[in-house]
Amino acid sequence: MNKSTKKLVYLLGLQVITGLFLILAITYQNKIMMVTSLVILIGTLTYLALVLVQNYRDNQIVDRLTQSVKNINAHEAAQPVLIKPGEKYKELADAINNLSDTKNEQLRESGLVDNEVLKTVNALPVGVMLIDQSSNVIFANPQMANILDRKIASDAHPYTMDVINYKLLTMIDHVFDTHRSTRAEITETTNGNKTLDVQVVFSQNNSSFHLIVIAYDISEVINITQMQVDFLRNASHELKTPVTAISGFAKTLLDGAKDDPEVLTEFLEIINRQSDQLTSLINDILTISHIQKDEVKLTDSVVLRDFVNQEIETQSNQIKQHRLQVHNLIDEHIEVNIDAESLQRIVRNLISNAVKYNRDDGEIMINASIQGNFWYFSVQDTGIGIAKSDLSRIFERFYRSDESRNKQQISGTGLGLSIVNELVQSLSGKITVDSQRGVGSTFTVRLPRK
Ligand code: ADP
Repeated sequence: MNKSTKKLVYLLGLQVITGLFLILAITYQNKIMMVTSLVILIGTLTYLALVLVQNYRDNQIVDRLTQSVKNINAHEAAQPVLIKPGEKYKELADAINNLSDTKNEQLRESGLVDNEVLKTVNALPVGVMLIDQSSNVIFANPQMANILDRKIASDAHPYTMDVINYKLLTMIDHVFDTHRSTRAEITETTNGNKTLDVQVVFSQNNSSFHLIVIAYDISEVINITQMQVDFLRNASHELKTPVTAISGFAKTLLDGAKDDPEVLTEFLEIINRQSDQLTSLINDILTISHIQKDEVKLTDSVVLRDFVNQEIETQSNQIKQHRLQVHNLIDEHIEVNIDAESLQRIVRNLISNAVKYNRDDGEIMINASIQGNFWYFSVQDTGIGIAKSDLSRIFERFYRSDESRNKQQISGTGLGLSIVNELVQSLSGKITVDSQRGVGSTFTVRLPRK
């Protein structure tokens, strides 16, 4: 029995005794006893009423304080319980209010942190998915949807609805069975070829657990590595051919062939041609390794017609050799802003190919135009043309059609068009080709106007 209940029992007892005294006083008509009993009875009744009111108020405060403590326990925001100074429970209420303030602040901070963590995970270039103990996906970031190439519902659903790749399914099942994290490279072939680096992490949390699937698309890294390996292999192969020829003919000359003046001249000419080939190969390799996609280029103001005339002049020997007619049809007023060094390489390679792959007595038409935000530059020839099967490959590094490779008189490195293509791309442009076997080819470059 607590203090206030005891107080109530005493008061009620006192009232019962006073009531009995009042009955006795009435029975014996004792006025003094009657008045005394009545005063005591009214006094105790008033006191009882006051005690009851106080009790009611106390109970209310205790209820509110209890609710506050429950909220704190449940990590929810709690309203402060305000009590006047000097009143009962004041100290307890202040202590609970302080505790609640601290807790509210912690909740606000952890809410902020949760929000920031969510924003970060959603912006990650890595796919993240959470699977709970009942095999339901409870979270997946946008990148995971990209990687799996499907929409991922935000409400809980079985992971088998999102994951269809057999190897990834097997990995997840394995982690469910063994409770041990795992990592593997997975090739996804449903939508093009994709290589993923996938980690399935087992995460124990008290009595429950969940799985975190982390997937990173490493296709580009693998492609770049493969391209570098291919480039080195092709470059060494192409370098080896002229070097072998040069050293072979030099040795033959040293072994005695130099004494025959006719053979000497012929072999020296071969050595000369092969060293030219070696020089252009090394120059092309150097050029291609220096082209950078997002490099900021200098811009020069170029009068296109004059610029092309200079290039035709540079190649006049080869043009004359094949008795070609070159028509520079570019309007003299066309002036473009572009990095002149890049433009020179583009123009030089396209004209040089139009010369090399032309027929004797053929023609070359060079034109340019401005349309909207772009300007176009084209080189058309009346040469051997390009087979359909080669069209998609001629911009690859070191690719030469069998015809140009076999006909030793058409010198080349197989790098010219890939240099042009990469330069055009680095200038935010595009190159296209239109060709017909035995009729000729037209290469057109589209570049943005600055
Ligand atoms: P290269 O001329 O040194 O062999 P390129 O990269 O410039 O290397 O060209 C790649 C291939 O594209 C050439 O080997 C040739 O088969 C084909 N090609 C390029 N330009 C022309 C053209 N104007 N006419 C016909 N074929 C061409």
